[in-house]
Amino acid sequence: MKVTVFGVGYVGLVQAVALADCGHDVCCVDVDAAKIAGLQQGIIPIFEPGLQELVLKNCEVARLRFSTDAALGVDHATIQFIAVGTPPGEDGSADLQYVLGVAGTIASLMSDEKIIVNKSTVPVGTADKVRAHVQDLLTRRGQELPFQVLSNPEFLKEGSALEDCMRPERIIIGTESPQAETLMRELYEPFNRNRDKIMVMDVRSAEFTKYAANCLLATKISFMNEMSHLAERMEVDIEEVRRGIGSDSRIGYQFIYPGCGYGGSCFPKDVRALERSGREVGYHAQILQAVEQVNFQQKQKLYQHITCHYGDDIAGKTFALWGLSFKPNTDDMREASSRVLMERLWQAGARVRAYDPEAMDEALRLYGMRADLEIVASKDEAVVGADALVIVTEWKDFRVPDFSMLQEKLRDRVIFDGRNLYEPSRVEDAGLAYYGIGRGRSC
Ligand code: NAD
Repeated sequence: MKVTVFGVGYVGLVQAVALADCGHDVCCVDVDAAKIAGLQQGIIPIFEPGLQELVLKNCEVARLRFSTDAALGVDHATIQFIAVGTPPGEDGSADLQYVLGVAGTIASLMSDEKIIVNKSTVPVGTADKVRAHVQDLLTRRGQELPFQVLSNPEFLKEGSALEDCMRPERIIIGTESPQAETLMRELYEPFNRNRDKIMVMDVRSAEFTKYAANCLLATKISFMNEMSHLAERMEVDIEEVRRGIGSDSRIGYQFIYPGCGYGGSCFPKDVRALERSGREVGYHAQILQAVEQVNFQQKQKLYQHITCHYGDDIAGKTFALWGLSFKPNTDDMREASSRVLMERLWQAGARVRAYDPEAMDEALRLYGMRADLEIVASKDEAVVGADALVIVTEWKDFRVPDFSMLQEKLRDRVIFDGRNLYEPSRVEDAGLAYYGIGRGRSC
């Protein structure tokens, strides 16, 4: 089948590659000319395991192409995916300008029937807005062309995006049109073989499902972070508690890791956007507000531990940071806890020596060259000349460090662990002070 995807960010690019890889003919359109030029030469703008190989493979067999030419994209296929950003506006609501921009482009250029499928995360009622916008532009053009607007939210996780897209747990399709449903079922057939993962519902429910899923996951994280504060004050080890409650199948082990806060492009903005949508319909979503507040506070946690250990004057200290990305296996630093920490450290006159397996270019892009930031090529190099070590992202590579080397290299012999990667007693036996999250030591 022929498919067009507008937007080659994390979602659009991964979706396009997954569709092309199982035989569909996919045309990707983006307004970012540099991104498209790079992709045309096989340069992938993001780090995602397995992505580069599959982009190259599918471009070679001409099932995947990239263009800035919207007319080419609109002409290419009946199915038109919208996978552009929906960043938070000033009041926290989702900014729909890019989604409506693509819808407008399709409406201005279409000359036959289109199925417009929205993959971006958008508030309830967006499909109605898109429908009205497209209809308005068609009327102005004096055209009467058939079209449908569907919701097909994306549930991939950065870091395992391809795997999630190729083997989805569910495929949600919001539509009231039986014809559009048939077309979407055909499109997703290759991903739907071992059991029926397709759930068809009305458009508004599909739009809401995505927010509800992300908000529940964020709630689990903030809940555990709140528990970690209590644990610290009550001399309880939150890691024992995590194992204890995770074994209950009603709770489960996933998303109950305490840490230094969630980040990324989705949880923070989606929690805020749903809370904002609540206000618009006259409801104060108290849990969502608390989830966000706890997360805001949690992102200060590492800095609090640092000042608890050193006192307020940390000017001139050098901190080795392991991890910059908001989570492992990605180079994405949007709303990353590392950014909050580094900015606080710099304000206080401290210096940072940072290492991340993938996000070092992104850090340089965000902060440029500055005297109080050194990006180094390995985790061992980061600790050379550092006073203390801070773990911010739980990359696999950080799980089994050489504690005796750290004891030797770190001038102040202290580790601040924002992801509870280490057993406190193991670190302390090696002659280092240890601060984890909710591990029974109160500052
Ligand atoms: P992104 O910022 O990485 O990419 C968006 C792309 O859209 C950019 O390349 C941009 O240039 C392009 N674009 C903007 N306007 C355009 C236009 N008029 N025509 C063509 N391209 C245009 O965004 P993302 O992370 O891929 O997220 C996209 C949507 O999917 C968001 O709503 C997000 O909430 C949602 N989502 C993201 C994830 C994730 O993990 N990143 C997961 C699920 C859902």
